[in-house]
Amino acid sequence: MKKLLPALLAAATLLLAGPPASRAQATGPWHGKQCAVVLTYDDAIDVDLDNVVPALDSAGLRGTFYLIGSSPVVARRLGEWRRAAQRGHELGNHALFHPCDGSLPGRGFVTPDNDLSKYTVSRAVAEVRANNTLLTAIDGKTARTFAYPCGDRQIGGVYFYEQLRPDFVAARGVTAGLQTATQVDLTNIDSYMINGQPGQYLIDLVKQARQSHTLLVFLFHGVGGGHGLNVSLAAHRQLLRYLQANEKDVWVAPMVEVAAQVKAAQSAASVTK
Ligand SMILES: [Zn+2]
Repeated sequence: MKKLLPALLAAATLLLAGPPASRAQATGPWHGKQCAVVLTYDDAIDVDLDNVVPALDSAGLRGTFYLIGSSPVVARRLGEWRRAAQRGHELGNHALFHPCDGSLPGRGFVTPDNDLSKYTVSRAVAEVRANNTLLTAIDGKTARTFAYPCGDRQIGGVYFYEQLRPDFVAARGVTAGLQTATQVDLTNIDSYMINGQPGQYLIDLVKQARQSHTLLVFLFHGVGGGHGLNVSLAAHRQLLRYLQANEKDVWVAPMVEVAAQVKAAQSAASVTK
């Protein structure tokens, strides 16, 4: 009986899985669904905890919050971030001081203290690692993802994340694009920066991802205010409703989980090559 049971289970699994085509889809990169959607929220602002976490929780969805360790909203609301992580949201790393390259055009907002172009690579690496320590102290987790502040990846022509690869599952960039699991660059995952677009635009992006079986990453800042870059509460709610209604076909998960799945799919593909 001990030997028979696994054999029976295997046979039952095969029967349940149906013909080979649907079996292949079921083991595809997006948990057998048409596409993956990741909801990311940057900069550790009050609206994350006031508007976004309650909206995601009530829709049964989980997202990724890229925290700036030095944000007063982290200091003031530690317990709330911890509870958000306990409910399955990812606390991602957006560096301690959000350094951006002040030498680029349009970067008047960058202060001398937080100018990435004045950093050494080792300082950037140390800062991001210190933020990981802080995040681990909050959520107890060791696996998470990084998001480049301002999307800046280089210091004097050097890609600083190269040294941080062992510290993260992946890093999110700011280039707009939909990619299949094999196309995704885990050191610079594409995302759509949202600022003022209506709900229908957000839903249309999900529809495109469903058709192309790709990964779609939303990059939000303010939701219903709280930041210079913003999406309205109504548009955000419309998107969440659509995702909830199409749960069967759309895999929505924090970046750390989707990136781990991409990694597995990519290494499986390289084995079979
Ligand atoms: Zn940011």
